[in-house]
Amino acid sequence: MEKHIVILPGDGIGPEVTNAAKGVLETVAAKFGHNFTFETHEIGGSAIDNQGTPLPEDTVAACRKADGILLGAVGGPKWDDLPGHMRPEKGLLGIRKQLGLFANLRPVKGFDSLLHASPLKPEVVGGSDLLIVRELTGGLYFGEPSERRNNGQDVVDTLAYSRSEIERIVDQSFKSAKVRRNKLTSVDKANVLESSRMWREVVEEKKQEHPDVEVEHMLVDAAAMKLVTNPAYFDVIVTENMFGDILSDEASVLTGSLGMLPSASIRQDGLGLYEPVHGSAPDIAGQDKANPLATILSAAMMLRHSFNMSVEADEIESAVQSVLNDKYHTADLKVKDGTQVSGSELAKKVSEQM
Ligand code: ATP
Ligand code: MG
Repeated sequence: MEKHIVILPGDGIGPEVTNAAKGVLETVAAKFGHNFTFETHEIGGSAIDNQGTPLPEDTVAACRKADGILLGAVGGPKWDDLPGHMRPEKGLLGIRKQLGLFANLRPVKGFDSLLHASPLKPEVVGGSDLLIVRELTGGLYFGEPSERRNNGQDVVDTLAYSRSEIERIVDQSFKSAKVRRNKLTSVDKANVLESSRMWREVVEEKKQEHPDVEVEHMLVDAAAMKLVTNPAYFDVIVTENMFGDILSDEASVLTGSLGMLPSASIRQDGLGLYEPVHGSAPDIAGQDKANPLATILSAAMMLRHSFNMSVEADEIESAVQSVLNDKYHTADLKVKDGTQVSGSELAKKVSEQM
């Protein structure tokens, strides 16, 4: 198959980790006889420096034509004092919004060889393998400008959804559950919020179309507790924007390192932007120390979700698993009795395992 991939390296360790993932994608192409073409564009701080804006028009135009987009990270202390509209993060928010990427997928898996790295007990983290599907373009973070008010005495934020916005994210979550373990937990606050009651209604309706999926509703406070007491309980979680933001960060402690967590922001036609959960890590940039696995796993998500290449995606994921089993790691992972290698060496090991 022919696929055109736009790479947005961004700032800090972004160029290192996207370059590592590109190498793995080239290995996949060679092994499976695909033709992957690559095009690189600027976003974030580097785009501000070179083109005077965090989101240049040619970057947006290229992303619109791409089959998949792989992003490193944006931002860093160099750009911290710029005014709001000129911040590197605006580039990332802008591209998600302009492309209408409404579903954020964050898989979290407790890799056996990294269990000791989590602040939680190994027997709690062991066996956890869950996916958080977070609504990304509506809900509490987007009740603006008209619904947001602050007159100095009273203040209002609005949690608004249209039924169709809930339907499309719920549809996505069923789709995800069906290629996983057929279990869906819809997380809300239906004992307090009207928006949560409509959310429940939609889930109950959609459930009829998917009799093979086990569905339950859980209040967000209960879900927050269960995530750290019994994470293996969950398969797919679907939830509102802010709830998803908070629960994803909470769930990230299960893996023990930010350097292991991939993410995807996708829309209905399959186009997606894939990126590691971590930031630009300016403290280690340019030293070949960055763990590339989160970005490599993000590339695997791109193969799975945007290109329908699940065998190829499985191949990358099991190569990552076996590199960890062989105890190769970067400094952030601190694998017991392991061999510490550089980021680029670790990526090479992944390619060799395929
Ligand atoms: P942002 O505001 O962009 O999210 P942040 O301040 O939350 O950034 P990161 O840039 O993600 O944080 O870095 C947090 C810490 O984790 C840093 O010490 C960084 O070196 C480390 N870190 C992040 N990503 C990686 C990685 N891929 N490999 C190794 N260490 C990493
Ligand atoms: Mg952060």
